[in-house]
Amino acid sequence: MSEVRLTLLSAGFCECPELIVLRNGSWRTLRFPATFALLEHPRRGPMLLDTGYTTRFFTETQHLPYSAYARATPVTLPEGESAAEQLAQRGIRATDVECILISHFHADHIGGLRDFPNARFVYLPEAYAAVRNRRGIDAVRRGFLPGLLPTDFEARSSPIAPAQMRPLADCAPFVQGVDLLGDETLLAVALPGHAAGQMGLLVQAEGGERYFLVVDGCWTSHAFRQNALPHPLANLIFDDPAAYRRTLADLHAFSRRRPDVQIIPAHCAETHARYVLKGTP
Ligand SMILES: [Zn+2]
Repeated sequence: MSEVRLTLLSAGFCECPELIVLRNGSWRTLRFPATFALLEHPRRGPMLLDTGYTTRFFTETQHLPYSAYARATPVTLPEGESAAEQLAQRGIRATDVECILISHFHADHIGGLRDFPNARFVYLPEAYAAVRNRRGIDAVRRGFLPGLLPTDFEARSSPIAPAQMRPLADCAPFVQGVDLLGDETLLAVALPGHAAGQMGLLVQAEGGERYFLVVDGCWTSHAFRQNALPHPLANLIFDDPAAYRRTLADLHAFSRRRPDVQIIPAHCAETHARYVLKGTP
C-alpha cells in the first residue's frame, strides 16, 4: 500500500480578535498560523496543499481597495518562512514541485503560487469560479487578491471534474471524494461553507497514520470536538453560513467515528504547536 510523507509547515500568520473564532471569546488578539502541507509520494514529485503567505501579500495590499484586506487581518511573515524558502531548506527546489492542491483561493492559501513555475494547480472548479472575475473591493470581500495568481494560472490548471467523484469507504458522513493519485493516498473532499468550493484532504501517511487536513472547515480543534460554531460575526466572511454549519457538524461526527484520523485545521494554534513547531509528523 502506498503512503505519503506528510510534513506540516506554516508560512506567516495573521491576527484577529478571539471573539470572531469563539462564540464567547474576548477582544484579545489571536495569531492564526497559515499552515500548508508538503506531500511526498514515493512515485511522484513533491506536492503541496496550499502555500501560506509570501511577501507578495504586502505588495498586493499597498493600495486601496486591497489595503482593506491587510487592515482587517494584519499579517506577519518572518524572514525565510515562505513555502519556497522552507522547501529549499529541505533540499527541495521550487521547480521540482509538480502539483499544488488549492483548498480555496483566500490569500493565506494561495500566497506562494507564483514561486512554483512548474506546478500544476488542482482545485474544485466552484472555488475558482467564485473568484475568477473578481477585482477590487468585490475580490477583497471574498478574501481574494488577484495579483497572487500566476499569469499562466489557467493554462497550468487541472480543475477536478465532477465525474471524478467516487463513493468514499468508511468516511461517513463524508460520502464522496476524489482519489487524486489513483492509489487512495490523497483523497480530496468537499468542505463547503467557509469559501465556495473549499476542499480538504484525507492523507494516507507514512507508518499507517491517517490525517484529514480540513483547512478552514473549522478554525480550531475545539470547534470540531465540540461542534462549536464561531461568533455570528464570522458569518459575514463565510460564503455560505448554513453550509459551514453542516460541514462543521460533519467534521464533529467524523471525529467521533474515526478517532484514528488526526484532524488538522489550517489555523489551529493547538495543532500548529503539535505538528508544525514540534515537527511531528
Ligand atoms: Zn484560511
